[in-house]
Amino acid sequence: MMDVSKIRLDFPVYQKQPKLTYLDSAASSLKVKSVIDQIDHYYMSLGVNVHRGAYDLAYEATRLFEEARVTVAKFIHANEEEIIFTRGTTSALNFVANALRDRLRPGDEIITSELEHHSSLLPWMMVAKKTGAKLVYIPLSKEGRITVDNFKSVLTDQTRVVAITHVSNVMGYLTPIKAITELAHQKQATVILDAAQSVPHMEVDVKDLGIDYLAFSGHKMFGPSGVGVLYGKKDLLNQLEPFEYGGEMADEVSKDQATWKDTPLRFEAGTPVISGAIGLAAAIRYIESIGFKDIHEHTAALHQYTLEKLKKVEGITIYNPTADNPVITFNVDGVHPHDIATMLDTYKVSVRAGHHCAQLVSKFLGVNSTLRASFHLYNDITDCDVFVSSIVAARDFFLSF
Ligand code: PMP
Repeated sequence: MMDVSKIRLDFPVYQKQPKLTYLDSAASSLKVKSVIDQIDHYYMSLGVNVHRGAYDLAYEATRLFEEARVTVAKFIHANEEEIIFTRGTTSALNFVANALRDRLRPGDEIITSELEHHSSLLPWMMVAKKTGAKLVYIPLSKEGRITVDNFKSVLTDQTRVVAITHVSNVMGYLTPIKAITELAHQKQATVILDAAQSVPHMEVDVKDLGIDYLAFSGHKMFGPSGVGVLYGKKDLLNQLEPFEYGGEMADEVSKDQATWKDTPLRFEAGTPVISGAIGLAAAIRYIESIGFKDIHEHTAALHQYTLEKLKKVEGITIYNPTADNPVITFNVDGVHPHDIATMLDTYKVSVRAGHHCAQLVSKFLGVNSTLRASFHLYNDITDCDVFVSSIVAARDFFLSF
């Protein structure tokens, strides 16, 4: 059993906001003290650049930064050369789309889905427009899932790219990505996985899944904003042209020629996100100190408890009762989600309202927007109770007019 009161001591925001019912971790998690301390240490005791200086402080900063890369690599079962620090999931996914664009020809097919966050969909939509390649959508199952069979129905000899989500940020469904990747590779297609919602909640083993590229963000897993990770298979990365050119990525430069370092440095032009990478490594150590098994058991129990309570409330539509991640997407019938979210805030309950940067999901559900409550390890049963009673109060208030 997770001792949440102990866990909350690790999250300083609860000391400042003791009444907070935070149910928006799918947007961004709260931040853990060891991460803040680690970033503080970098700025207070080091503060210098990495890879460049020939002095003690620079060696120490470089050691911490490169150690962070090793920590991230081990966390997802990759090699350290396969880890590129980016600004977040969005910049990682845009980088891959731009880098692969020159290989696509009119008639080539890019498989995606209506479950995508805009940062997984829009880069490929733009690549399709520029190259004449075709965006092909996996037909979703009735409840809105990507299934292996539905994927098979759109996989063709023209498929070059499969760019899909691992876990939907709205529906919380887990994609059967290992089987999909095996099929995609039979057609020599490249598989790019948006793992922004999976990496904070489950063990992700890139070698086992077999995917070619994967992206995630630090801020959804107790780490800092402004840092994310692009994983890519080493031999694939070394074939990619850098996206940005500048300091520390070049090998040999003459007046009209330049050669590039090997991955990962060839993709980290300029001063990298030093404090972000170091902070992310601290976040990973924190997750590992608790373990995904306990995190999952705890959040799954809260998720199930809240679902059962919410199902008993009249006038609520729940869109994803079978979600794999601890995410509940719902509406209060006849009331705009933003009104409900604003009312919940008066009870210090934080949820998300809107289309969650995934407008095709709203369209699939046939609504303009939804409410979303999402859980993580610092939530407890009281949060679930306060949440449901606030929903009832908000519903009664708005329907009383
Ligand atoms: N993909 C998914 C599934 C997400 O949930 C998010 C964040 N909402 C992103 C991509 C984008 O992540 P970031 O804003 O950190 O780049």
